[in-house]
Amino acid sequence: MNESTARDPGSSERDVPAVPPSRPELAKHPVEAHALLALVVEDEPVARRFIQASLVKDGFKVIEAESGEEALKLFDQSPTPNIVILDIGLPGLDGFQVCKRIREKRADIAILMLTARADPEDKIAGLDLGADDYLVKPFNPGELVARIRAVLRRAALRPALEEPLVFGDLTLDFQTQNAFKNGVDVNLSPREFSILAALLRHPGQIMSRDQLAKEVWGEPRNGNARALDVFVCKLRDKIEDDPSCPRLIKTVRGAGYTCG
Ligand code: CA
Repeated sequence: MNESTARDPGSSERDVPAVPPSRPELAKHPVEAHALLALVVEDEPVARRFIQASLVKDGFKVIEAESGEEALKLFDQSPTPNIVILDIGLPGLDGFQVCKRIREKRADIAILMLTARADPEDKIAGLDLGADDYLVKPFNPGELVARIRAVLRRAALRPALEEPLVFGDLTLDFQTQNAFKNGVDVNLSPREFSILAALLRHPGQIMSRDQLAKEVWGEPRNGNARALDVFVCKLRDKIEDDPSCPRLIKTVRGAGYTCG
């Protein structure tokens, strides 16, 4: 196992004892009982080993897939990974498709997407399909592990199976992550669903873009506000009678959005 690329221990958020970098097999030590399982999906061997080594060093157990198809096979095996680190650029089934399929199986698993391009459209597409966050290559092990820990914390805070939320002619089913208008499924993406849910949990309240981004992504970051506007626009197309004159999700100029 070549770990020479993962020298920087740099994580400030380590809460699982680290394993000495030269002995990744020591992860089978007592740490294992509490170790989180990460599925790393990356077709480039050097990049995959780098990620694997960074995670093992931080106390994770790691399984690896070099294609989207292999990733989905591994995902279905037991135990289910706690987090999926998913490269977008894969031969065959790409990262977006894998993300979508995993989300259809499980709403609660953390997904961190990796992108080689800093293209905002890529980020939005990944988040829209239910990824929790994205990381632009190149990154160092400290950044990777810090981002993974943040994503896992948010996934753990995700409210489990809430009762359905009814608002006017809308019903949100948190178990299936489906939204219905007058009983008809409006086919929201996971991200559209979480934005609508965040607004409906605070009816009548004006939520700033930062507040909404915090509720949806856990923390406001550059680019989230723009992504949010894109998602709200898509959401209106699906739930408003007249998207050009929205009655459910209203924009409050200079302040944010309000629902109801
Ligand atoms: Ca790749």
